[in-house]
Amino acid sequence: MTSQGISRKSILKTSNLITPIIVGTNSVSNNNDLQVMSEKNLVDRLEKILALHLDKIIIFGMPKLHDSSGSQAWNKKGIVQNTVRTIRENFDKKIQIIADVCVCQYNLSGHCGILNQNNYVDNDKTLERMSNIALSYAESGADMVAPSSMMDGVVLSIRNKLDDNGFRDTKIMSFSKHFSCLYSPFRLTAFKKFSKIDKSTYQIGNSNSREILRKIEMDLLEGADIITIKPSLGNLDLIRRIVEMVNCKIAAQHVSGEYAMIKAASRCGLIDEYEWTIGYFASMIRAGVNVIISYGAEEIAASFRIH
Ligand SMILES: [Zn+2]
Repeated sequence: MTSQGISRKSILKTSNLITPIIVGTNSVSNNNDLQVMSEKNLVDRLEKILALHLDKIIIFGMPKLHDSSGSQAWNKKGIVQNTVRTIRENFDKKIQIIADVCVCQYNLSGHCGILNQNNYVDNDKTLERMSNIALSYAESGADMVAPSSMMDGVVLSIRNKLDDNGFRDTKIMSFSKHFSCLYSPFRLTAFKKFSKIDKSTYQIGNSNSREILRKIEMDLLEGADIITIKPSLGNLDLIRRIVEMVNCKIAAQHVSGEYAMIKAASRCGLIDEYEWTIGYFASMIRAGVNVIISYGAEEIAASFRIH
């Protein structure tokens, strides 16, 4: 910890941070600096997270079984559903639980939806699957569901499904997910052979800011409670425009590639990772971001003792 770091802590608080938790059947630490947790080690890790005054997590599942439809994603006894129940049983409401809604970690294609005969993602067929996944998370006790597939109409489809089943209080975090190479470390962790998959037909390109803003407006009209922009790096201009355009909470995800770049540069002695991270996170808060999803949340909270 450096004195410089301490003096820069004030704009960033632990309440601004969401910790991603990747749950799998075995605990793994890999070359990408991402940790996969087994259910066995989960309670210990969450006690440490709470001790750092971090109280919000987003869960990503890495199942053992995969099939063509990704059916483990909506299995009521699936890895995320079991994890959510375990957290609720052990921590009651002390931790806000957000759960990522997608099928790409669960199917055989690595795509974020159901494929048609031409191997393109079929938007409408995918909506029902996404709403079933979201319902299974809500039934397990999740506070918020986070559809990340970028399918048109996914927020409305999930909102209707939750409302029809008595989960009006379950919130929806919608993603504005831009096509980027910065997801590679997560993909290498979750599904090695798909790390270079082309998702450009449903993720948004960087050059079309009008399309990005229109999609966010649609998500809000459909019932999104919070909008998350990812990646964060390279999108601060958009984040600022979105903050001025909408009246809801804004999150930014400091994605796996951004986190990995900092770690790699730090290991090479090229940068001070804490100074850069704190400065960069402060720029996101200045731009109007309310919460930051980051794999570095625990390290930042521990090193700077921010509250
Ligand atoms: Zn996906």
